[in-house]
Amino acid sequence: MSLHLYNNLHRRLEAFSPADAANVTVYLCGPTVYNYVHIGNARGPVVFDVLIKLLRRRYAKVTYARNITDVDDKINAAAKALDVPISTITDKYTAIYRADMAALGIQPPDIEPHATDHIPHIIAMIERLIAAGHAYAAEGHVLFAVDSYAEYGQLSRRSLDEMIAGARVEVAPYKRHPGDFVLWKPSTPDLPGWDSPWGIGRPGWHIECSAMSEAHLGETIDIHAGGVDLQFPHHENEIAQSTCAHGGKVFARFWLHNGMLNFGGSKMSKSVGNVSILHELLERHPPEALRYALLSAHYRQPLDWSDALIEQSVKTLDRLYGTLRDLGDVEAGTMAIPESIEMALCDDLNTPQALAEIANLAGQARRSEHAAERAHLKAQLLGAASALGLLQQTPEAWFAKGADGSDDARIQGLVDERVAAKSNRDFARADAIRKQLADEGILLEDTPQGVRWKRA
Ligand SMILES: [Zn+2]
Repeated sequence: MSLHLYNNLHRRLEAFSPADAANVTVYLCGPTVYNYVHIGNARGPVVFDVLIKLLRRRYAKVTYARNITDVDDKINAAAKALDVPISTITDKYTAIYRADMAALGIQPPDIEPHATDHIPHIIAMIERLIAAGHAYAAEGHVLFAVDSYAEYGQLSRRSLDEMIAGARVEVAPYKRHPGDFVLWKPSTPDLPGWDSPWGIGRPGWHIECSAMSEAHLGETIDIHAGGVDLQFPHHENEIAQSTCAHGGKVFARFWLHNGMLNFGGSKMSKSVGNVSILHELLERHPPEALRYALLSAHYRQPLDWSDALIEQSVKTLDRLYGTLRDLGDVEAGTMAIPESIEMALCDDLNTPQALAEIANLAGQARRSEHAAERAHLKAQLLGAASALGLLQQTPEAWFAKGADGSDDARIQGLVDERVAAKSNRDFARADAIRKQLADEGILLEDTPQGVRWKRA
């Protein structure tokens, strides 16, 4: 069975085979660690986690890098606002990012390069670009000269003029061409800076990924992935830098881009700022349901994100875990990933098809009355779900909804909200919360110390 992936560089499905089957290389653009990430930023890591799992089943070795951008003007601004060192901000949000990714069941990357650990690589790459006539220094800056690279625009497939108009690039007197982008910029003493041939300064964002990818994965990588919003200018600039620094060698053989999340739901659009923060969603919902929801549409399509989608995902998982609970006394046969799942995933990661297959297997298992068949179907169901990183906990753990404490904050939040609603004489809201908690098996008790809750 061959793996077909939509190579966005060529705008077509292509059969994937690595340049070196002994080591498949994949790079995913990671977060800039200055704040909590949006749920939309979790789609790529979840989708490409499924891809990495698939590649690991097919090849002996996969090297997967996902970077941390820990030098950036947004980080500088966040540090300045709190009057703390940059590292206070980057350490905090790196740790939160890792924990949130783990909560979503995402395997950590093999390599997690930090931009600030690669300043010598970045400087060396910029020097090569200058020597080759693709970059120039001006007023403490170094800029990439876009008209030195005839293929510029190959990924976004727009003319230079269109790209510049769309991106509203900064016009600056030191630029030879308005489309030229920054590789290095000067730092004043209040900003993080490193010594360089062009004075104390810091790297631009795009060059970080080119340098880190080269340092860990080599000059040509098999797959470069990221959100479609990064196609221009970030990925276009990565291609220009890496190709020109490597004498014209192909940078990434396959470019995979995931689509964006839409927040069209009437309720969510009003307060999208709060309800879309991954960290907060993880506190309020079972993380596995968020993972399921992110895989429910094909990765290249936009995904309509809503409370209803999360609720539907919880219900679907309730049904799947309910099936596993019913099969509790059945000894599963040897776990294997069914061919139907591999076929769906090999068809450009068709996760909606794979989820339909999982539902189908669960339905068959529920209807089956033959012991041997039930054992086989249980193994198939667990195998199928593992390919998507689902059904990785016991039914008891799922139905306890985090009785280990992970759900307590959400429940306490609802209890507190109900107390506030009652004191505001909003009895309709207070009753609605009591009913919701009762449906989840949470009992409320009035005590002299206030309202206590316990699981039924
Ligand atoms: Zn990047």
